[in-house]
Amino acid sequence: MKVGIIGAGISGLACAHELERHGVIPDIFEQRNQVGELVTHCAAVLKVMNRPVKDQIEDLRKNLNIRLEPLNPLKKITMNTPKASGTVYGKLGYLIKQGQDQDSTANQLLSLIKAPVFYNCRADFTRLAREYDYVIIASGTSDITKTLGCWQDVVKSWVMGSTVLGSFEPTAMKMWLNTEYAKRGYAYLNPFNQKSASLVLVVQGADRSNIGQYWSRFWQTEKFTYEIASLWDLEHSSGFVYPHRVDNILFVGNAGGFLEPLLGFALLGAIYSGVYAAKSIIEGINYEDYLEQLKENTRISIALRAYLNQYQNKNFDRLIALLTAPLIKNMIYNTNLDVLKYIASLVHLIDKVKSLK
Ligand SMILES: Cc1cc2nc3c(=O)[nH]c(=O)nc-3n(C[C@H](O)[C@H](O)[C@H](O)COP(=O)(O)OP(=O)(O)OC[C@H]3O[C@@H](n4cnc5c(N)ncnc54)[C@H](O)[C@@H]3O)c2cc1C
Repeated sequence: MKVGIIGAGISGLACAHELERHGVIPDIFEQRNQVGELVTHCAAVLKVMNRPVKDQIEDLRKNLNIRLEPLNPLKKITMNTPKASGTVYGKLGYLIKQGQDQDSTANQLLSLIKAPVFYNCRADFTRLAREYDYVIIASGTSDITKTLGCWQDVVKSWVMGSTVLGSFEPTAMKMWLNTEYAKRGYAYLNPFNQKSASLVLVVQGADRSNIGQYWSRFWQTEKFTYEIASLWDLEHSSGFVYPHRVDNILFVGNAGGFLEPLLGFALLGAIYSGVYAAKSIIEGINYEDYLEQLKENTRISIALRAYLNQYQNKNFDRLIALLTAPLIKNMIYNTNLDVLKYIASLVHLIDKVKSLK
């Protein structure tokens, strides 16, 4: 069986790894000269996002033989709104390095596979679809998915981020919700180590021309005094994709709509969708069937994002108080309940009650 993969990002490499576990060595095409996202940043994997899986890094190791070495466990999250602040502690997830460094997730995945990566090679999916039995679109963008008519935009945001130098707790994440500078988006700080961290602002509906203004307002409001080691900006685009396969072409990762619109988590969606695409072509099972859980997560995330989009700062203040109230906190972080699903159902119910008034 001949499989071509367009993109040596997280989803493409995870797909290659699963194919190889079943004896198929794919060809991987990468337009850049190395794997990994262009910017180096510290991403978070939150345990609450993929229930009922208890520990995603452990799940990947045990069930898929994907061994990833995170930078650190995540043990503390502090959430800040203009008038409130709350902290949760526990085994909350992991901090993971993204980018092109040797210890980045993409390079860790690359070290697990044998498949050849053809660098500096921008692949044409129509040509590959003729030459290969299957083509995996792992391109990280919506371009090809849109061309094939399978993409609907959900949320478009502009992201500005930096590596900042200062003094940090390596296992602690900070988050900010404030419409003054993030509109309906969010900001966060994830440490690489004690001395450097990623500071990132995500603003829905912003673009390259105005993201700098939001960024300045963010720094002024939060009175940061960090030294900036690098600064970058890029687009984040979440979409609803259907179907996920057209003829012999399958969409995975961001190209498959697995960048969730609530808080931009996409790493695990990229890995699992890559693995499921491989399993579906190896086992001859409908790809959509494998995707049920991921699609359910996307639906929940879209519902919660739509709800949060109505929020003003005073609502965010109340949300923090709620999320860090002892009973709720315990339920969210110290049980294995799929709390996002329950919150989404509650939100749906509240909307229904409102519409009856
Ligand atoms: C700033 C930022 C912060 C993030 N934070 C988090 C986080 O905290 N938690 C989380 O879970 N996720 C986070 N994410 C999301 C996550 O890192 C990525 O979205 C996810 O890993 C995407 O993987 P992918 O394989 O779909 O795409 P990518 O990793 O973008 O890979 C796509 C690859 O395809 C190549 N390519 C494209 N077109 C072609 C072509 N025609 N021919 C050849 N090669 C091609 C590209 O060069 C690229 O290497 C973040 C993303 C960003 C940008």
